[in-house]
Amino acid sequence: MSPEGNAMSRNGSRPAGVSTVLREVLASGPVARSTVARRTGLSAAAVSGHVAELTAFGLVRALPGVTGGPQRAGRPHVPLDIDTAQHVVGAIHLAVPHATIALLDLRANVLQSARVPHEGRGPHEVLARAADRMLAMMTEHAFERSAIGVGVATGGWVDQDAGTIVEHPVLGWRDVPVRDLLAARTGLPIEADAHSRALIHAERLFGQASGTASVLQLFVGNVVDAAFATADTVQHGPRSAAGAIAHLPVDDSDEPCSCGRRGCLQASVSERALAARAVAGGLLTKPSFMDLLALGEQGSPAAVELFRERARLLGRAVAPVLDLLNPDVVTVVEPGVSRIPGCLAELRDAAAARVSMCRDPRQTLHATSFPATALATAAGAAVLTEFYRNPLSWLRKPRSWNRISSPVRKIDQATESA
Ligand SMILES: [Zn+2]
Repeated sequence: MSPEGNAMSRNGSRPAGVSTVLREVLASGPVARSTVARRTGLSAAAVSGHVAELTAFGLVRALPGVTGGPQRAGRPHVPLDIDTAQHVVGAIHLAVPHATIALLDLRANVLQSARVPHEGRGPHEVLARAADRMLAMMTEHAFERSAIGVGVATGGWVDQDAGTIVEHPVLGWRDVPVRDLLAARTGLPIEADAHSRALIHAERLFGQASGTASVLQLFVGNVVDAAFATADTVQHGPRSAAGAIAHLPVDDSDEPCSCGRRGCLQASVSERALAARAVAGGLLTKPSFMDLLALGEQGSPAAVELFRERARLLGRAVAPVLDLLNPDVVTVVEPGVSRIPGCLAELRDAAAARVSMCRDPRQTLHATSFPATALATAAGAAVLTEFYRNPLSWLRKPRSWNRISSPVRKIDQATESA
């Protein structure tokens, strides 16, 4: 982790000019230098200096063949944009049944993605296989790029500072030093974060929450959790334990929970619970959530109703959270809300019926900006958000693209010398 970036993530201090310029190009590119100067408050000379440095590192490029008007003082209006062709980040998301391995560019576009089933393996073996798969993916699909680092995201309790998965109750993992294990295996810098927190960063940097004052992120998979951010600061709390909503009580649910109680949110709406309900109702012969989702997308009334009920239960359960935090925007990762007509409206109406003072959930609740890639995007954002806080620190340090021992760099050199 970049120490400067970490400090900024906690106390919100002003990032360096070069980071400010890069983030402005990210937010509004293609964009003219003069616009960058106006929006950031930096002088034209300062912007030019930062752009020259960012260009030299392959982070920003001037778009060729575009002029925005007559040349003045010998300088054409050449728009700037993020250079997405030079670098790559690795992404490893750990879900309950499988890991998602992916490669992303600097705009968080997912370049490659694959699923690797856990098949009952423990954390060390799962992480080793994921790391090897990711390195193979890099050498096959990104050999011409330089690797910046690897982001890891998962549900459960992740201590970002310590780089550990403190507890993943559904996987049964405890105190897994994910950063050290993956750094040793890959030779690359590793950033680990809870997937909901990482997704808030993704929404702010690459999605619909750019420039929004406060954001609540809800994640509904086999794990159900949340994260909340104001301004540029995501709430972590002591040992990064903020965001647990798995055991919020749900009305009208008698589902037994691992905590010993009944009717908890996660036990009631998890993918496993929904798939089991579909089997009990004769809709499926085996409890496959993906099969149930396919039926819902095809318009099967019984499948659609299971997803609408899931949305209603979620809306009712989180209403007190909305009143407590009063967020400007709530983004929701739940495939029914993204893909099945009626589910977003059910969610909004159910929450609206239960809240008292917060901004109307029918205006604040939205499906995620990343419906097809939420897991890969979350993992990639874990490292990209730290990269954008202090980009040059990731490139100047020998651990990054100058790293001779990096497997990707080795391939790079082999290709160059071939
Ligand atoms: Zn519970």
